[in-house]
Amino acid sequence: MTVQRWQVGVATITSVVEDEIHHIPPEFFFPDANAAAVATHDWLVPDYADASGNIALRVQALVIDLPGRRVLVDPCVGNGKVRAIPFWHMQQYPFLERFAEAGFDTASVDTVLHTHLHADHVGWDTQLVEDAWVPTFTNARHLYTERELKWCKAGGNPGIDGVYDDSIAPIVDAGLADIVDEDTDLGDGLRLESSTGHTPGHVSLWIESMGATALVTGDFLHHPVQCEVPAYGEVGDEDVEVARATRRRMLTRACETGALMIGTHFPTRPAGHVVAHGDAWRFVPEG
Ligand SMILES: [Zn+2]
Ligand SMILES: [Zn+2]
Repeated sequence: MTVQRWQVGVATITSVVEDEIHHIPPEFFFPDANAAAVATHDWLVPDYADASGNIALRVQALVIDLPGRRVLVDPCVGNGKVRAIPFWHMQQYPFLERFAEAGFDTASVDTVLHTHLHADHVGWDTQLVEDAWVPTFTNARHLYTERELKWCKAGGNPGIDGVYDDSIAPIVDAGLADIVDEDTDLGDGLRLESSTGHTPGHVSLWIESMGATALVTGDFLHHPVQCEVPAYGEVGDEDVEVARATRRRMLTRACETGALMIGTHFPTRPAGHVVAHGDAWRFVPEG
């Protein structure tokens, strides 16, 4: 697989793909959608949907390189995790091999950011070594928001036990965890913005460098069809109405700023621009 990279000022953003699945019936993730409805948005074909309206989704981590700094965002599902959802259960993805092929060493990551603490955004934080979950990114500060940590610790992942215990507790126990505010400046042009709704303490990442702007969505948005139909809630949205309002607010900002938006679960060509279309938007991929 070709490694996808984007330049935003002095920041280089690299996608490390864990998995990408095509031809998914949309109602599997979007209860209010179906293939016939998605097929009417023909601009989604072929990158984001097939001609019959079935969709594609990706699981990827993003590496942001800045002078003297390497940040990893949302380290995917991970390997060997016991999960009630079959397609996340006991996986053996070649993720760390792809991470190395992209030119990265786990020891070189200095910050791990989590847009939220769903099981598909924290997995590679730990690896199973001799029956114990140990940190993968041993030199990194791992950032969490307080609301999200509390929600996850209380069993927030719907129907999935063990996420806190196997993917977060080992980080806390190793002294590698930091609590950050939901709206906070991380320095070097990196800024978190609260984008609650999908989960209570969800955040998105703005990257600003030399007049250029990028936005890493996390899961306030899952698929480009939600640009044109922001009302489509995703099955994991905790507060559907708040998630809808957040989607409209963030898409408005992405459009106004001309940001390069990188959809955390967008397949094929995940980076592009949000352009106004009627009373909503469309997504125009770059590259
Ligand atoms: Zn999520
Ligand atoms: Zn997700």
